[in-house]
Amino acid sequence: MDRQVAVYFLVGTNTASSYLNFCIMDSMQQLSLNVPDTVKLRVVVIGGGFGGVAAVKHLDSRLFQVVLFDKHNYNSFWPLLYQVATAGLQAEAIAGPLRREFNQKKDFHFRPLKVQSVDVQANTLHTQAGDLSYDYLIIANGSKSNYFGNKSMQQYAFGLKSIPDALNLRSQLIQAFERAVLTSDLAERARILTIVLVGAGPTGVETAGALAELRKYVLPKDYPTIDFSQMKIYLLDGLDRVLPPMSVKASEKAHRYLEKMGVIIRTNTLVDSYDGAVVKLKSGEEIQSYSVIWSAGVTGDILQGLPPEWAEKGRLLTDENCRIIGSKNIFAIGDIAAMKTTAYPKGHPGLAQPAMQMGTYLGKNMQALHLGENVKPFKYFDKGSLATVGRGKAVADLPGKLHFGGRIAWYIWLFVHISFLISFRNKLLVFVNWMWNYFTFDKANRLIIRPYVRKGDAVAQEVFLENEEG
Ligand SMILES: Cc1cc2nc3c(=O)[nH]c(=O)nc-3n(C[C@H](O)[C@H](O)[C@H](O)COP(=O)(O)OP(=O)(O)OC[C@H]3O[C@@H](n4cnc5c(N)ncnc54)[C@H](O)[C@@H]3O)c2cc1C
Repeated sequence: MDRQVAVYFLVGTNTASSYLNFCIMDSMQQLSLNVPDTVKLRVVVIGGGFGGVAAVKHLDSRLFQVVLFDKHNYNSFWPLLYQVATAGLQAEAIAGPLRREFNQKKDFHFRPLKVQSVDVQANTLHTQAGDLSYDYLIIANGSKSNYFGNKSMQQYAFGLKSIPDALNLRSQLIQAFERAVLTSDLAERARILTIVLVGAGPTGVETAGALAELRKYVLPKDYPTIDFSQMKIYLLDGLDRVLPPMSVKASEKAHRYLEKMGVIIRTNTLVDSYDGAVVKLKSGEEIQSYSVIWSAGVTGDILQGLPPEWAEKGRLLTDENCRIIGSKNIFAIGDIAAMKTTAYPKGHPGLAQPAMQMGTYLGKNMQALHLGENVKPFKYFDKGSLATVGRGKAVADLPGKLHFGGRIAWYIWLFVHISFLISFRNKLLVFVNWMWNYFTFDKANRLIIRPYVRKGDAVAQEVFLENEEG
């Protein structure tokens, strides 16, 4: 009998759970990492994001065997994730297979596995497919959404930290527009259409702008019977301005652009709870909303087994060579790392550039660090920050206290984002999509390919999931 079928038959009984355990253990026993033994030093990298990829690129395969682990088999370009969620880009445009990226690299081994824990005494890490020893370990596993302990938000709001998150949100939004057509209750329709973004950092601001454009240019043509003045877009933040990591000038400009586009901005506003229908603010005010997007911050994901004293506020403390303080052979780069320097006393900002620059630095200097040579400390070159709000509207803080807004900043934003995409294919896909969006005022990826049903959402279950059956 097919093993999976057998499990379905038996689920629900004691025999079933022992059989299920047996099947899992049986299949685990068949898995093996199959990383060849080597006489070279083995460098293991955890995470194929901005930092990990840069490190692998610069590690010399003549000197090191390089093993990369990532939960996914692709690398994603997070700065454009919100465009996947708002139907501007397809997921494939912002992601590329990690194997393709390194198919020319010698003695390189990729395994699409989550690293579950690290045994720092035995220099070994654990995965579902077995253990692997390392001579050097580079931790580049990034960050996860930080809900600041707000359980209701964690349960009901949409995070925007991965491609599955973006596809879930896209389905939710398009399903909401379809549901709005299916109800005659105007108050319910307004609730279904209302979107609340919590967190007015770059992700919140860019997503709010993209939604406002969708509401202005695209949705009225698709749904001529709906009055889109009922679709409210709220952008909330606990601080006193949008884009807090950017300059006050950039923040004020972005605020003006968003307001002009009809986004309702509430700063100094803290969220209390959300139950899938109503957002309660700490002030006591309530906002009826079917879709809440959480973009209020991230925190590091400290791997199990790492001594707690290595971490501070969810990040691993490193010296200026990216080496974890307290370890000889474990390094941390990117979002997970806190390298406190005079210029960055709290560690570098959680951005793509520090991660890439740390990865490049470490990859290039690994041999010298191994030999115990004196290696110049890492120095971050800040290339500036950008955020876009919509067509022809962006803000840029560039080195030398240069600030731009409007169309010039938008062109810089377009150019920078295209140039940092991982492959030529991604650049081309994004460019073609953007040209299409620009000239047609359309966002063509409005597809419910994999319906999303939030736990307890009986209507979505009935309307969208049951469509898929039979
Ligand atoms: C929506 C969004 C928008 C952003 N916009 C911008 C922007 O406009 N500009 C900017 O500079 N920065 C932006 N950032 C921040 C930037 O993307 C991060 O600072 C950067 O990705 C950090 O790089 P990293 O290598 O540390 O981590 P990541 O690039 O996040 O890579 C971490 C990798 O580790 C993998 N991983 C995690 N845990 C494990 C595990 N246990 N085992 C195996 N693999 C694991 C993940 O799958 C992932 O591939 C944005 C981030 C997000 C989420």
